[in-house]
Amino acid sequence: AAAHETHEFRTEVQKLLHIITHSLYTNREIFLRELVSNASDALDKLRFFQSRGDAVANPDLPLDITITVDKDARILRIADTGVGMTRQELIDNLGTIARSGSERFMAEHGMGQGLNGGAKAGAAAGDADGEAASSTSAAPTDAASIIGRFGVGFYSVFMVADTVKVTSRSCQPGATAHVWESDGSGSFSVAEVDGASDAAAPARGTIIEAHIKEDASEFLERHRLEAIVRTHSNFLPFPIMVEGERVNTTPALWREPKFTVTAQQYEDFYKYLTFDSGAPLETIHVSVDAPVQFTALMFVPPHGQELFGMGRDRWGLDLYVRRVLIQRENKDLLPEYLSFVKGVVDTEDLPLNISRETLQENVVIRKIGQTVTKQVLGHLEKLAASDADKYAEFWRGHGKVFKLGHTDWANREKFAGLLRCNTSHHDDAKGLSSLDDYIGRAREGQKDIWYISAPNREAARLNPHLEIFRKKGLEVLFLYEPIDEFVMDALGNYKDFALKAVEHADAATLDAFPTVEERKEAEPLAESDAPAFDALLARMKDLLGDKVTEVRVSHRLSDSPACLVSPDGSVTSSMEKLLKVMQR
Ligand code: ADP
Ligand code: MG
Repeated sequence: AAAHETHEFRTEVQKLLHIITHSLYTNREIFLRELVSNASDALDKLRFFQSRGDAVANPDLPLDITITVDKDARILRIADTGVGMTRQELIDNLGTIARSGSERFMAEHGMGQGLNGGAKAGAAAGDADGEAASSTSAAPTDAASIIGRFGVGFYSVFMVADTVKVTSRSCQPGATAHVWESDGSGSFSVAEVDGASDAAAPARGTIIEAHIKEDASEFLERHRLEAIVRTHSNFLPFPIMVEGERVNTTPALWREPKFTVTAQQYEDFYKYLTFDSGAPLETIHVSVDAPVQFTALMFVPPHGQELFGMGRDRWGLDLYVRRVLIQRENKDLLPEYLSFVKGVVDTEDLPLNISRETLQENVVIRKIGQTVTKQVLGHLEKLAASDADKYAEFWRGHGKVFKLGHTDWANREKFAGLLRCNTSHHDDAKGLSSLDDYIGRAREGQKDIWYISAPNREAARLNPHLEIFRKKGLEVLFLYEPIDEFVMDALGNYKDFALKAVEHADAATLDAFPTVEERKEAEPLAESDAPAFDALLARMKDLLGDKVTEVRVSHRLSDSPACLVSPDGSVTSSMEKLLKVMQR
């Protein structure tokens, strides 16, 4: 008999199993999407090996995914002819959670407590439903939507199955097959497939056999399975057969001529790509021939990703070469500040066997990246010009990330034009203006765009530096986020205007502007009062010592008794605070 070993799942896996099996009941069907995606990934990897000339077992086997059921035995079977797994890969890949974010994710969503206690070996997925429902009752919807978006992977099969058997043969020529088995409650076993059973094992690739739970019989119904595959896996590049018939027949959408693709098809593809449940905010479908040839289908989701805590690193475009997936989430095709864009790029201008390591230095990739970036920025410009409300929605969802673009020197002007900001012109903190809007409202002779940093609108309005601007009716940008000031510093100017903090505004320049209202002439400082002020100023300087360079009388203020100014050209006071924090 072959060696038969039992292993324990890592603790975090147990916790995750518990969440999966108890919080996601409303959306159990996604387990099939996960298994089919894994099968497709395995086929992608195999095709990749083949395309660069590696030897694989049974090279003539068709690349496909077959789903079959045995109703009497309650077995759902998903088979692929992909790369398969060796004994060690079965242990490593199915015994630990690849995503380091899972633990943090659970903690952030308050799912850690209440589970730790029940997470001793064997108890995770096996305890009574009643207890589990109460311990996770606050989280389900949240967990369901988030896990639904990012995918939970292989373990989701335990939502519908009480035992799972994975038989796999690695694509390495001559590899033996192994069986992995588990009831998802804390341990799994791995054994080599011996002589007699070897014929039933896959010739190459993986067979997953799920023993379906009593309350999940729907997943033994052919029509149900077909519908799920069509909803979630329609665009996979390999044939998916359910009970002998091919279900997915839609070709790679990005390769289709734009005018033949319907809005519904775009939306379906977006959902398939992002696991999102609604429509994208924007769809960008481009086909470019020069300077490089490529096709891209990209989407702007309606919401930002940082809301979800984990997955900071999960961005980038999927790179295909002639429909062969070369790399998921490639990060050289888009700068980080456009990381909210999801999609695929397919090019004919790269060899299929390009190594993933050299992609980064590849000149074709760089050119595609530059063009894609320009396309996305151009699309946003068009959106801003044609639909300000929708653009504002974009800005609320992604503005924070977009601001990182202040380092993109090559696209500086476009970037600056796409910025939005609340200003003193608006009635409340919701209003947004572009720098061009601001310039359009600028006063005659105005050469500066002034800004002020403050945690919120109230604080900005209370800042004494703003008084003179209010008196003169001069518009000021309100910067509420720390990064804003870096953006202003990096830009320096926009069109013919200098970007300047209000505290650096030149007093003479400000004075030259006429006031909007009839100016209440402040009592001129009488000669005779001067000595009194001298004494006060001396006393203040005395008290403040080295903390200030000078204390002087100002005509700039009308409502406040005093304010801090920085010597011209030095950093603003809020920037100074930031820099101090950063130096620590
Ligand atoms: P992910 O797909 O995000 O990596 P999963 O939990 O879905 O996470 O799968 C874990 C790992 O198990 C995969 O990365 C892969 O290495 C392996 N795996 C799962 N299913 C298959 C399969 N059908 N063929 C080959 N390897 C697989
Ligand atoms: Mg997966």
